[in-house]
Amino acid sequence: MSAHIIDGKKIAEEIRSEIKQEVSRLKSEQGIVPGLAFILVGENPASQVYVKMKGKACEEVGFFSITERLPADTSEQVLLEKVQLFNNDPTIHGLLVQLPLPPHINEQHIIEAIDPRKDVDGFHPMNVGRLVIGLETFRSCTPAGIQELLVRSGNDPSGKHVVVVGRSNIVGKPVANILLQKQKGANAIVTVAHTGAKDLTPYTKEADILIAATGKAEVITGAMLKKGVVVIDVGINRVEDPMSKQGYRIVGDVHFESASRVASAITPVPGGVGPMTIAMLLKNTLQAARKLVFER
Ligand code: NDP
Repeated sequence: MSAHIIDGKKIAEEIRSEIKQEVSRLKSEQGIVPGLAFILVGENPASQVYVKMKGKACEEVGFFSITERLPADTSEQVLLEKVQLFNNDPTIHGLLVQLPLPPHINEQHIIEAIDPRKDVDGFHPMNVGRLVIGLETFRSCTPAGIQELLVRSGNDPSGKHVVVVGRSNIVGKPVANILLQKQKGANAIVTVAHTGAKDLTPYTKEADILIAATGKAEVITGAMLKKGVVVIDVGINRVEDPMSKQGYRIVGDVHFESASRVASAITPVPGGVGPMTIAMLLKNTLQAARKLVFER
């Protein structure tokens, strides 16, 4: 058996085109242009690439976006003041401070300074809390993208045993919380595994849907999976590859070749979860512009 490939790039494109249509409706009917502000501190090359990609995505769907670039030695106080400026700016509906921040800045202080109504990353404790108790909120982008991938690829998690490997605050915990809600596109039976497990296999073997978010290259192999499982691989890992031009290649947390012989469906890396993250950021910003959050 060879698994069906879940094409995250294609699904993300569908979402982006739906958003583009919504934006043009919002503009013509209500005169609202969704606005997203990015704050980038320092010169981290990966962060620069991410912010550039997100800005380009905003432009493509018709959002207004602005990027505030601050030097690496910016003080926490100055950054907090910038956050306040965007919090108070009525043309800005979403505010994203690109992480990681330089070590002298306390990330949690910054996250908690963002107006929860503009927290399109979904990291503010108020939004995390609302998610846990099942209220309308901003769902952080990668976990929300995973749910959307499952639903749109015809793998509704309802009633399924989902095993999440990894318990980080940005992927593992929020995706577990999203999928266990008694809601459409969720309602799963969820297990969360982590390094506390002496052996992962007894857990992974039980999964109808396996979500791998460990940050460890190819730790989950086909031998650890049940036949017919749906595999969502969140990992993005660089491994040395002297055969490739750059000297490395990107792999997931799942060993793709062996897993695709056992799975019924699997996301590739790259081209699976990755493209969904930006699509969900756009969706959250549109939701903020329509002021849907906190109204229910
Ligand atoms: P973290 O390093 O913050 O968390 C990893 C989690 O996996 C931890 O909970 C850790 O357990 C667990 N873990 C690590 N190794 C093992 C193992 N061998 N067995 C069981 N559990 C293990 O990573 P993130 O959640 O931030 O990211 C995970 C991956 O997803 C990374 O590759 C990252 O690059 C990628 N990513 C991709 C995104 C996308 O858009 N596609 C967005 C965000 C992340 P413990 O808590 O016990 O230490």
